[in-house]
Amino acid sequence: MNIILIGAPGSGKGTQSRRFIDKFGFVQLSTGDVLRAAIAAKTETGLLAQSFMDQGKLVPDEVMISLVDGYMTQQAGKSVIFDGFPRTVAQAESLNDMLKKRASKIEKVVYFKINPQILVKRLTGRRTCSQCGEIYHIETKPSSKGDLCEKCNGPLVHRADDREDVINERLAQFEKNTGPTIEFYRKQGNLAEVDSDQEPDVVFEQITKILGLAN
Ligand SMILES: [Zn+2]
Repeated sequence: MNIILIGAPGSGKGTQSRRFIDKFGFVQLSTGDVLRAAIAAKTETGLLAQSFMDQGKLVPDEVMISLVDGYMTQQAGKSVIFDGFPRTVAQAESLNDMLKKRASKIEKVVYFKINPQILVKRLTGRRTCSQCGEIYHIETKPSSKGDLCEKCNGPLVHRADDREDVINERLAQFEKNTGPTIEFYRKQGNLAEVDSDQEPDVVFEQITKILGLAN
């Protein structure tokens, strides 16, 4: 089964992705990881991608698709979660064509809908340990050690990414960039929406049902 998870930063997409990997044996395809691996291994496509990056250019879609194709061959038979790809309608179309050649397809696209106000509330209260990366929240998950991390005593910081103006700008960008891709999959008939303002357990149950997986 191949699925795509689409959601703005902070929508809980990463958390859910990890749960599906752990519970159902999905592998996650992140194009950034696939690209880095191909470059490190100096594969033909990796070197080609590198040559574009060396010129300060974006790696063209057909090169990315070729890398994705190679990854799927490596992971043959496994269920794949696409994360952060496709980003555009052109990439979505190329992905469809590539999968068709493999007698495969995208079964479901799960779109994590968020209420911007709730997201802002969630993220502006977030505090991150500057040493180990543990995440706290001033309301829902405060550290028992105040401004220090419970695990490593590192100082907790309010990351610039988690400030309201930055979050609103990021959401606006996300909608602008991703809106057409979401509509593409809606027309294709395999888009499912989940309300990601709910508890992670509830979201997990809903996605499990959407995918027709037994719990
Ligand atoms: Zn820590």
